[in-house]
Amino acid sequence: MDAVVYRNDRRYPALLYGRNLRFPENSAAAPGRIALCSSPAEVRHALQEAVSHGLRPTVRSGGHCYENFTANNPGGMLLDLSLLNRVSVDTASGRYCVEPGAVLGDVYQALYKRNGVTLPAGSCYTVGAGGHISGGGYGVLSRLHGLSSDWLSAADMLTVTESGRIEERHIHRTNDPELFRACRGAGSAGFGIITAYYFDKLPAAPHDVIESGLHFPLETMSEEAFTALLVTYGDYWATRGRDADTWGLFTILSVGSHRGRGNLNMYIQFCQPNGITEDCSVLSEFLKRFEPFKPVSEITSTDAGDAAKQTTNSYHFERGRIPWLISATGNRSGGERTRAKYKSAYMKRTFTAQEAQTIYRFYTDSSRTAFSSSLAIDSYGGAINRTELLGESAIAQRSSIMKLQWECHWQNANEDADHLRTLDRFYTELYSGSHVDADHQGTPWGEGYEGCYMNYPDADMLRYSWWPELYYGRNTGHDGLYPFLQKVKRTYDPNNVFHHAMSIRLPQEA
Ligand SMILES: Cc1cc2nc3c(=O)[nH]c(=O)nc-3n(C[C@H](O)[C@H](O)[C@H](O)COP(=O)(O)OP(=O)(O)OC[C@H]3O[C@@H](n4cnc5c(N)ncnc54)[C@H](O)[C@@H]3O)c2cc1C
Repeated sequence: MDAVVYRNDRRYPALLYGRNLRFPENSAAAPGRIALCSSPAEVRHALQEAVSHGLRPTVRSGGHCYENFTANNPGGMLLDLSLLNRVSVDTASGRYCVEPGAVLGDVYQALYKRNGVTLPAGSCYTVGAGGHISGGGYGVLSRLHGLSSDWLSAADMLTVTESGRIEERHIHRTNDPELFRACRGAGSAGFGIITAYYFDKLPAAPHDVIESGLHFPLETMSEEAFTALLVTYGDYWATRGRDADTWGLFTILSVGSHRGRGNLNMYIQFCQPNGITEDCSVLSEFLKRFEPFKPVSEITSTDAGDAAKQTTNSYHFERGRIPWLISATGNRSGGERTRAKYKSAYMKRTFTAQEAQTIYRFYTDSSRTAFSSSLAIDSYGGAINRTELLGESAIAQRSSIMKLQWECHWQNANEDADHLRTLDRFYTELYSGSHVDADHQGTPWGEGYEGCYMNYPDADMLRYSWWPELYYGRNTGHDGLYPFLQKVKRTYDPNNVFHHAMSIRLPQEA
């Protein structure tokens, strides 16, 4: 079989779409060919073909991109790296190598089974390493161990010179250091193609974890109680949650539902910082704070947890002590492929009453978008907030205590406009008012916020001239992260070969 799939190939429709079925928007927006690459040499060959024939290359590894950065490529070439997916360790040096097409579940399995280590990374096991690691990479162990890109030691990358020559680079702290820094958080934003990630060391995986869940009935909860709950949650992360003994505690508070049931759930995972679960006082202390809200039922997040579950009735919660690997590779596929829209916000403080009320009103309303969407409020901070990493990574958000993500899912194209408009209106309302900088109304910017996450890109933000600040922090002249990334862009991709709606602009571009 040919490794280049054209429109008339019967494999083309199956290979065209990533997870978000909104893209490509139509047939005219689709790439003319899809190159299936299973080795760095094949990636190089495909890229050379694209450049030589004047075709725009877009790159896909795991296909989880939220926006139209890969499948929308009119007549161009989509390089599909999903078959470039080995996870290995060099026995002489002990260095780990993760290829971009490897999905997180396979990364966790391989690293754990061979060496008992892990990469702190996303909770969904179908996400690809390619976009995830270069865009930061955040998950259940990130408070304890930091972001995926924080552990990156080196990467192999293909870039294109001004004259159209492909260059193979092995980038690290002393070789192409600026490009290496850019790939630690902004790597999928348009510099080249990463064909391998290297990690000199990785943290030991926890021995076991406790999974727990709380469920609150949103339908019968008053606005006051909901506000108090959100404030209590945020308060914990703004105060006690900063202490290092709590960094093994990770939670997601989910509001709403994309399954048509308004509800309020909290997923909780805990281990002590040393990866065991002998002393659960941190977890008990956290759960006790929610006793006044009378959680009414327990939820289980993994099927495999059932066998080893310990139940404590006093707080109406359920504890499941399970081996870490079972938890990491449990029932977290991310669900079926749908049409979807996502938004994000970093928070540096707990919720205000006004914010909580806006969220409450949206999710207790009967709009189609409220029923089709959810807001996940993740705990953040801990090891991520090591400020010494600011200068050596492309992640500007190192002061936040929570990260918010909106997801909206639907099936029919004729619902696109309604969902996009309604979700956008809700988000804009939430970030409008005196709690947001006067110059940044409509966006999470100001004292209490740190902008948005590049791995959760939201093209609605392009309407604001300051959108790069939301993702890369305040641009304080030439010292700012975004101007730095623009210089890297000019050096390593002077012809803007790798571009998409939210890629780093060349310095002279508006
Ligand atoms: C169901 C789901 C769950 C998620 N869970 C989490 C989570 O827990 N934590 C988190 O941090 N994020 C999460 N994400 C977001 C995820 O990290 C990003 O969407 C990430 O960019 C996906 O990488 P990918 O390779 O799968 O996607 P792709 O669609 O293949 O690529 C995403 C972007 O990266 C670029 N890219 C891909 N491969 C390369 C490469 N080899 N070289 C250069 N650029 C490349 C693409 O061009 C594109 O711009 C989730 C997304 C989904 C859909």
